[in-house]
Amino acid sequence: MSRRDKGAILVLSGPSGAGKSTIISAASGQIGMYYFSISTTTREPRVGEVDGKDYFFVSKESFEEDIKAGNFLEYAEVHGNYYGTSLTPVNSALEEGKLVIFDIDVQGHRLVRAKMNDITTSAFITPPTLRELESRLRTRCTDTEEVILNRLKNAKEEIEALNEYDFTIINDSLEEAAEEFVIVAKAARLKYSQETEEKFIAQWLA
Ligand code: ADP
Ligand code: 5GP
Repeated sequence: MSRRDKGAILVLSGPSGAGKSTIISAASGQIGMYYFSISTTTREPRVGEVDGKDYFFVSKESFEEDIKAGNFLEYAEVHGNYYGTSLTPVNSALEEGKLVIFDIDVQGHRLVRAKMNDITTSAFITPPTLRELESRLRTRCTDTEEVILNRLKNAKEEIEALNEYDFTIINDSLEEAAEEFVIVAKAARLKYSQETEEKFIAQWLA
């Protein structure tokens, strides 16, 4: 038996505009085999976003059907839209021994903890200040004024959940934040399920 029979989960949360996507792309070559969980959402695609790559963009009706069918590992309403993680691809990636990375909000993190705590590690990613977050959202140029104000309001609430996470990554210098992310991703792989630990102990004793 190898120590890593099954994969592990790394949950990333943080305000929209914190730099989560940027950090993952900057570090992607240094964290081994991973699967980035593509969420399903009812929000409109931003300019440049691709269906099936950034998100699966669906209608409210289709999302609600998936909820009824029990297809989501977790879902939440964020900024007035639904966002959810489909169960099937996550389970397949875990079976393949991959690190599964989620970019989900604080409600989603709580739900993943409730279901898969023993293989979950989490990090909250944030710019150094609220002011800097606002500046990045404006520079990104993907949202209307109303959407930006809504995201900032949400960010003020989300930061209060910081202490629920294993690690905090302050995205000031991108290079340093990406280095810290690599360390967290490597640590996340060292978290084994109770089942794997029990098997390992039995084998160790044999
Ligand atoms: P998220 O995925 O968390 O919503 P993004 O990765 O889209 O955030 O980043 C938001 C904006 O901030 C983008 O325009 C990105 O280029 C910029 N950005 C990310 N990290 C930094 C950084 N360390 N310094 C300055 N700008 C950054
Ligand atoms: P955005 O609209 O900027 O892409 O994402 C808005 C927020 O929704 C972010 O905080 C992001 O982490 C969160 N989010 C994205 N996908 C999911 C998901 O599948 N589940 C949950 N709970 N939150 C998500």
